[in-house]
Amino acid sequence: MLKQIFTALLLLCTVVVSAQITDPKATEFYEPVPPKVKADPVAVPPPSDAIVLLGKGADTKEWVSVNGGGAVTWTKEGDALVVNPGSGGIQTRRNFGDVQLHVEWRSPNEPDKEGQGRGNSGVFFSGRYEVQVLESNGSDTYTNGQAASIYKESPPLVNATSVMGDWNSYDIIFSAPVFDKNGMVVRPAYVTVLHNGVLVQNHWEIKGTTAYIGLHKYTAHENGSIMLQDHSNKVAYRNIWVREL
Ligand code: MG
Repeated sequence: MLKQIFTALLLLCTVVVSAQITDPKATEFYEPVPPKVKADPVAVPPPSDAIVLLGKGADTKEWVSVNGGGAVTWTKEGDALVVNPGSGGIQTRRNFGDVQLHVEWRSPNEPDKEGQGRGNSGVFFSGRYEVQVLESNGSDTYTNGQAASIYKESPPLVNATSVMGDWNSYDIIFSAPVFDKNGMVVRPAYVTVLHNGVLVQNHWEIKGTTAYIGLHKYTAHENGSIMLQDHSNKVAYRNIWVREL
């Protein structure tokens, strides 16, 4: 009983505190700055038990547009698929729970842009937990919003971002959250990320939907899509595959 009262109070406090945060800057921090590490992308071909989400010729049969669920209108360039700014994100037709995901991405050459406006995209699990994609080699931003951060939660352990215009790789282990029938969190989501082969998120416990404004909190959900963000920058993706765990 005491535990239930405590949980209810904690929930109430979270709701009250969250309700007070209207400034996005309240959840952005700048120090300590993750040290830079030079590393090359790791181009792992899909293993035999993987589902290929984006392979040769950038076939988009596994994807739909987030806007209305229609066909993907991003641009094919050989084996790469490039964000079509303003068209909206794309998401997998399939829903996923616990996964191992490999994805390669390349920031566009946009030296005139800075911070969150430079090569911004993102890989979302269950459509709501973002591993940030950003050109963070030559431009600074809040550390919990730079490349390979869990957006507005956890900065990467180090900054392994390739120089602008070069390819990067992410290898991500994601454990989906588990909710009980009342929508309470039985097990939070966890994420481990290797950026260009370097460990940057080590079994991070995700605090909730990676919202732009306010503290993160969970809302119960089923397994969902993997989503790639359209943040108005022409970020390219290739060689995306997933293994269900
Ligand atoms: Mg993003």
